[in-house]
Amino acid sequence: MTASRERVAWFNGSYLPEAEIRIPFRDRGFIHGDAVFDTARTFRGRIHKLAEHVERLYRSLAYLRIDPGLSPAELIAISEEVVARNEPLREAAGDWWLTQRVTRGVPAGEDDGRGAAGGAGGGAAAGDRPTVIVECTPLPLARRAPLFRDGIDVVIPWVRRTPPEALSPRAKTHNYLNLTLGQLAASGGNPDAWAVLLDQHGNLCEGIGCNLFLVIDGVLKTPRAQRVLPGITRETVMELAATLGIAVEETDLDPYDAITAEEGFLTSTSLCLCPIRSLDGRPIGSGRVPGSVTERLSRAFSESVQFDFVGQYLARLAA
Ligand code: PLP
Repeated sequence: MTASRERVAWFNGSYLPEAEIRIPFRDRGFIHGDAVFDTARTFRGRIHKLAEHVERLYRSLAYLRIDPGLSPAELIAISEEVVARNEPLREAAGDWWLTQRVTRGVPAGEDDGRGAAGGAGGGAAAGDRPTVIVECTPLPLARRAPLFRDGIDVVIPWVRRTPPEALSPRAKTHNYLNLTLGQLAASGGNPDAWAVLLDQHGNLCEGIGCNLFLVIDGVLKTPRAQRVLPGITRETVMELAATLGIAVEETDLDPYDAITAEEGFLTSTSLCLCPIRSLDGRPIGSGRVPGSVTERLSRAFSESVQFDFVGQYLARLAA
């Protein structure tokens, strides 16, 4: 199996070639987005902050009241094994996104081909059996390489972020419709734009897979954790800023703050930190990309992971 050129994933207890994985079409993750996931990345094949990602996954599971039937330690061991089994394919891929996905499975009482029985049918019910997948996929290094040369064009769309009273953004669920609509609205005028959505009060929140940072009067500011996914990279960047003596504030930020900021960047597992070039079509700050605080933090991030993530992206720029 490992001699094949096909990636291997873990699916409900077995390591299988990806093409052999069959998810029942009645799986609640498919029909309702009733599922959670978390995604770490590798640096030269080393998984970064896996324990932190798995901890966040279990918080998302607790929020949706899904029992994966596995302990965090078991899921960590499976995740490490998936990366190990795919290592022969990694060099061509560059590095991996490594994702754990847990759905509520097929509603209890419906025939899932695995002999499920009993239960009430429609809603979440005792007896549901989760679907668990651990898989890896190449990071989109070439596609995103220009962002590290030019910066990201951020657009604030008309779509507002789902309020925490309806569905907490702190849980990483399979339901990304709100963020998808925001991204579609933002990319209407500029196909390369990244959306950063406002909440219902007009405060900046986050994008489809990233957190926002602005530098204002030399202070690094980011939206409050109640209104966004508490990114693992966001946390790391705040820690690095503290060690560099850069003041950090979690606070309400609105478009005025972004328009008048000295610089800005987005963070995510895959991007690490990537500078913002423009906001709604206007250069941010002096227009220097990356800004000096972004540059210092990027360097500190690279040192902390002992890997030049910017260089890895830039190496994939089309000649
Ligand atoms: N916000 C959202 C909605 C996300 O999906 C992600 C990606 O996981 C992030 C922020 C960034 O989080 P992290 O740095 O843990 O990848």
